[in-house]
Amino acid sequence: MNRQFKQAIIVLTLIVSLPVIFFTVYEYSSISREEKLLADVYDTQLNSILFSVNLYSEDIISAWQKKISGFNETGNGQKTLKEFLSENPAVKLIYSHNLDNNKTDIIFDGLEKSGHETEAVINSILKSNTSKVSRLFNYLKTGYRKAEPVNDSVNGGITQILFASIEKQGKVISGIGIDSKEFIEKTLRPRFQVITKENLVVSIFNIRTNEKVFSNFPGEKGELRSGKMLWLLPEYEMAIKPRNTTVEEIAQKRKNENLIIAGVLALLLFAGAIFLLKNIRREIKLSEIKSEFVSNVSHELRTPLALINMFAETLSMGRVKTEEKKQEYYEIIGRETERLGNIVTKILNFSQMESGKRKYNFEETDLNDVVTKIFNSYQFHLKNKGFEVSFSKEEGLPLINADQGAISEAVINLLDNGVKYSKEKKTLTIKTGKDGDYLFVSVADKGIGISADDKKKIFEKFFRVSSNNVHNTKGTGLGLSIVKEITKAHNGKIEVESNPGEGSTFTLKFRIKEFKQNV
Ligand code: ADP
Repeated sequence: MNRQFKQAIIVLTLIVSLPVIFFTVYEYSSISREEKLLADVYDTQLNSILFSVNLYSEDIISAWQKKISGFNETGNGQKTLKEFLSENPAVKLIYSHNLDNNKTDIIFDGLEKSGHETEAVINSILKSNTSKVSRLFNYLKTGYRKAEPVNDSVNGGITQILFASIEKQGKVISGIGIDSKEFIEKTLRPRFQVITKENLVVSIFNIRTNEKVFSNFPGEKGELRSGKMLWLLPEYEMAIKPRNTTVEEIAQKRKNENLIIAGVLALLLFAGAIFLLKNIRREIKLSEIKSEFVSNVSHELRTPLALINMFAETLSMGRVKTEEKKQEYYEIIGRETERLGNIVTKILNFSQMESGKRKYNFEETDLNDVVTKIFNSYQFHLKNKGFEVSFSKEEGLPLINADQGAISEAVINLLDNGVKYSKEKKTLTIKTGKDGDYLFVSVADKGIGISADDKKKIFEKFFRVSSNNVHNTKGTGLGLSIVKEITKAHNGKIEVESNPGEGSTFTLKFRIKEFKQNV
């Protein structure tokens, strides 16, 4: 058994620990991947928000571009300009500059500076951005009207948006100067509200000053900065983060959760393995016990058979001369046949019980009657074996609901054991009485007794105490398991008091007046 068990332990340890180790390592390494994945997810979200904001800004700008040419028209021009300015308060400057004659026409100047200074600023901006200007005209040639944002280093916070057009009088660059902060606050804010969700914080930072100029949830800290520029406002970048938490916190939380799950799984696996090992050990033990049982039973059957065979042969050969001897042999044959019958009945009863087919016939029963009958029919046999038997019964006991045959069988099993496990002191005491809500019948002997450890196991099927005495005593290891089953079927209790070398007392208890339906 030990070798088999050791092999089972090694195999199970491998089966369990390999996946546990693999799983834990895998989970641990996947955590950092997940953290990156999470950041990537937010990055993708940021990109899509940015894309939407940029597209929206472009739409606004291209609408402006279309309107600019109308502002110079006589008549309606001033009215449209006024309307435009009141709709777009972020616009601080509108102008057009003819590149052919170098003439600047300031349509609107809200920068509160003199016209001349503004003109100088415009000229210097155009000069320092010649490549962007020529790019605009190249785009125009391909039929594509584009706007180019440029920083206005003189007027802080102003972004100049340039457009190109070819008019009658020549190549014209038009420009709109917007207050970036105001544009974000007044024009883009409503857009943010539409595209950002409640659980997402979006903020805009000035990359030069690091100032946060906008946030849909201004109180939140720790944005995920990833340097996503706004096309229209090159000085600004957008940042994003989950609301009320940070990506690191989410990753950390997931990390902790995953580790806990991995730990719990590992524990479960180990618990399962231990459970399995225990079962294996029990099964191995059981199979060992079963084979022992088979050899015990064969021995139990063979002994009476051999005796019956021997005495029957002697009788049939006519070798027995005296009637007295013949009688003695007949009695032996009768006794051994009965013993054989008892063993077979025991095994049959046990197998019925095992398959759950044993039927009980419950009826109002006087416990004293049942035990008295057993005592009367057994005392002679017991005394013959050299036993001193006493029966003390408490009179006037109430009735119980019981299967009389089954209770007799249980008590007889206890008496048989008392006989089998007694040595020099051959005393048996049978008692009946009342104990609280229960009636009891007890069988006490002064035999070899049972150790505390074995006491827990004697009711298990096939179990026999492995001491020399027991090996010399006949038995199947079924008696007490049958007694236990019978008591259980009666909702009763079975108790044992025993000290090695001093003897044992087995007590069966049955509840008073508990009437059960026949099953
Ligand atoms: P069996 O007697 O056929 O071995 P049982 O189920 O009746 O099987 O008993 C199980 C074991 O309990 C016995 O093998 C014996 O070791 C122990 N045992 C039972 N009754 C007694 C007793 N009265 N005194 C000492 N040991 C006992």
